[in-house]
Amino acid sequence: MSDWTPKPETVAARADAFLCPHTGALIPAVHPSTTYARDADYQKVDDRGYSRDDNPSYEMVEAVLTRLEEGHASKVFSSGMAAITSVFQALRPGDHVVVARDSYFGVGKWLRTWAIPWGLEVDFVDATDLGQVQAALRPGRTALVHVETPANPTWCVVDVAAAARMAHDAGALLMVDNTVPTPVLTRPITLGADLVAHSATKYLNGHSDVVAGALVAAADTPLWQRIGEIRYLAGAVLGPFESWLLLRGMRTLYLRVRQSSASALAIAQHFARDPRVAWVCYPGLPGFPGHEVAARQMLGGFGGMLSLRLAGGRDAALDAAKRARIFVRATSLGGVESLIEHRATVEGEDGTAPPDLIRLSVGCEAVEDLIADLDQALGPAMPLRAAAGGDD
Ligand SMILES: *Cc1c(COP(=O)(O)O)cnc(C)c1O
Repeated sequence: MSDWTPKPETVAARADAFLCPHTGALIPAVHPSTTYARDADYQKVDDRGYSRDDNPSYEMVEAVLTRLEEGHASKVFSSGMAAITSVFQALRPGDHVVVARDSYFGVGKWLRTWAIPWGLEVDFVDATDLGQVQAALRPGRTALVHVETPANPTWCVVDVAAAARMAHDAGALLMVDNTVPTPVLTRPITLGADLVAHSATKYLNGHSDVVAGALVAAADTPLWQRIGEIRYLAGAVLGPFESWLLLRGMRTLYLRVRQSSASALAIAQHFARDPRVAWVCYPGLPGFPGHEVAARQMLGGFGGMLSLRLAGGRDAALDAAKRARIFVRATSLGGVESLIEHRATVEGEDGTAPPDLIRLSVGCEAVEDLIADLDQALGPAMPLRAAAGGDD
């Protein structure tokens, strides 16, 4: 059995086969200590000095995540934004980056507000069109390409393997925000990505009770070293209790993500021909642009996130949110409870979400309940379209 490697489901469920060598405990302790004693010769024990640098509670999460993402190493951060912005902060003024316009709203906002004035050169492109990525790359000058797939809130798809080849040919690294598919459904490092980012607030934790972020590196590079220094010196560390909760949440990651993904597909299929819905944004539907790429790079599902663009426009979208009873009107995603969101309201004036769109984070409730709730929330069909459509 020496060549036997446990499957990722096993790694997650068993928190990387944790067993306390001192007590036999199956569940790891929380390590609240901020500081670590040195030995009589003034040497560090276990290479630890201070918890802004490292802490056993962070390291347990990092070890599991590194294995799930098939990376070289991971670091947890105090939020997804802290993780993602650490990568950009590790670059230098004058460096050029290419960023998918459809990446998480906060990333674009932070880049425009802080990073560009600081000296980073940023090109925002539609990364679903790789020609735009190619055109924006400046060989030798571009340090990083950042993409997200499927991307919020229209769930458009980026071809990670092709983006990685393009970035590498120009001497740049590729970062992929893997918050939505999670390593259950996509492992970007196996497709060529150099860095994987997570808002661990979402599926990794899965219970809407921890704000956390993480980065996974494919290899130990100078950039990765600088990212580690930024976490240490700027101090965006996760608390030990949050780390412990996150590890606990990750033990059921595979069950939760697979359930959400299966239910989201059922919901997408159910409403795909509903006259009240103008367009279902879900990469699992064959007519969806990017479906073929998603089918190739995603593993056994298309994720638990989908959006419905309503035929009745903005008012219909707000009415649907108003009438929802099981779906909770709240932002965020990836918890066991289903959420409905009018994204345009949340993003405000400088947002890009279409006003007729409601975003759904599908949780782990019975899918029949979720479909029934949406069915009543969408309200009466508009008679003209229903008659013309004439289908179910
Ligand atoms: C929520 C989210 C983030 C930001 O993470 P926080 O934990 O809220 O800081 C980044 N990317 C994606 C895809 C997200 O959904």
